[in-house]
Amino acid sequence: MPKSNPAADTRDLLSVADARRIILDSVSPIAGWERVAVRAALGRVLADDVIAPCNVPAHDNSAMDGYAVRAADLAGTGDTALSEVGTAFAGRPFSGIVGMGQAVRIMTGAAIPEGADTIVVQEVVRRDGDRILVPAGQKAGQNLRRAGEDLAQGGVALAAGSRCGPAELGLIASLGIAEVIVQRRLRVACFSTGDEIASIGRPLAPGQVYDSNRYTLFGALSRLGCDLLDMGVVADDPAVLENALRDASLAADVVITSGGVSVGEADFIRDMMARMGKVAFWKLAIKPGRPMAFGRIGDAVLFGLPGNPVAVLVTFYQFVQDALLQMMGVSPLPAAQRFRVPSEVAIRKQAGRCEFMRGRLLRDGDRLSVTLAGAQGSGVLRSMSEADCFIVLPDECTGVQPGDMVLVEPFTGLI
Ligand code: AMP
Ligand code: MG
Repeated sequence: MPKSNPAADTRDLLSVADARRIILDSVSPIAGWERVAVRAALGRVLADDVIAPCNVPAHDNSAMDGYAVRAADLAGTGDTALSEVGTAFAGRPFSGIVGMGQAVRIMTGAAIPEGADTIVVQEVVRRDGDRILVPAGQKAGQNLRRAGEDLAQGGVALAAGSRCGPAELGLIASLGIAEVIVQRRLRVACFSTGDEIASIGRPLAPGQVYDSNRYTLFGALSRLGCDLLDMGVVADDPAVLENALRDASLAADVVITSGGVSVGEADFIRDMMARMGKVAFWKLAIKPGRPMAFGRIGDAVLFGLPGNPVAVLVTFYQFVQDALLQMMGVSPLPAAQRFRVPSEVAIRKQAGRCEFMRGRLLRDGDRLSVTLAGAQGSGVLRSMSEADCFIVLPDECTGVQPGDMVLVEPFTGLI
């Protein structure tokens, strides 16, 4: 578990990379698995290798519509005349043997008939009665798909730790497998803190704000395929908060809270958490999202995210998501999709912290560039909604001029 000195100098900020490393070093995959049907495996993580029970494809077959021939029959120069002795369809093989001087008409996917070893595409073949004329220049073994070429029988078709997307579902089905063993779902308990936070469905009293964090977190956690335990809004009251944390940590693998971790607010929470578990309060070199708590209460991992709605999403994507994937058993973790594009606009920035601005990618033909998406305040959720990427400005950056290359992280990469 991370250690931190609560009285640490406020200038003593923890870098994004160090925080990520501490978090990922201290969480490990949960135990427990279940057997599910192929379709129900979408988004789930394989708990076991999927071993191919058969070859895919099951037999040598044609990659093209054409003629199955014997390479040894073909002349080095000029046309070779062969007699057509039958047809092989996909799913309806030619049952005879292709003898010397013979050819079989063959469709894509049809098994290669015995005796034949090469496919000549139909476009280059001329017909002459019941004979065909094959031009010179064919290569022995061309246009074949070999048995086991995609997946060899007995080999690992998908490794444990793979997260099943559409391609994986198809791959499992291509092996004739109806059920797979997946990790059980990660249980995540979630609540918002703050005396001013109101739940939707009630009128707002003066000074109140509606709880949006539980909804952004609901979206992010649901997409990850977590089992979500929504515990509502918890007032800034030590006894209530302590109960909520205890219940959450008993019921879930992970507890995610928002709000109440900034300087001033954090003091009573810090004392309580110190009693209940082992939690570090970090000041991160990040904007938005400077305050964050991380640690453990009982067996549950705790993420105390900041309260500002944009900071919640930034810290979730930069620190929480990969930790959850790791606990879900995903291995290897997917690499963050980041690339450089020119900025259309000037951006002001102080050195010493990593800033996640909300950006919009612009496309002009093949050329991509990025601009800022609306007002960048850490409470302005609209900037997230209008954005399609983060513009990631590293600690040392002291500002951006139009045309400067900047790093972007598209939201489509954020699962
Ligand atoms: P805090 O981190 O508790 O100091 O909160 C920082 C800011 O975020 C304050 O303006 C809060 O009102 C706001 N905030 C905290 N939690 C939520 C929430 N669940 N939904 C919307 N805004 C919130
Ligand atoms: Mg608060």
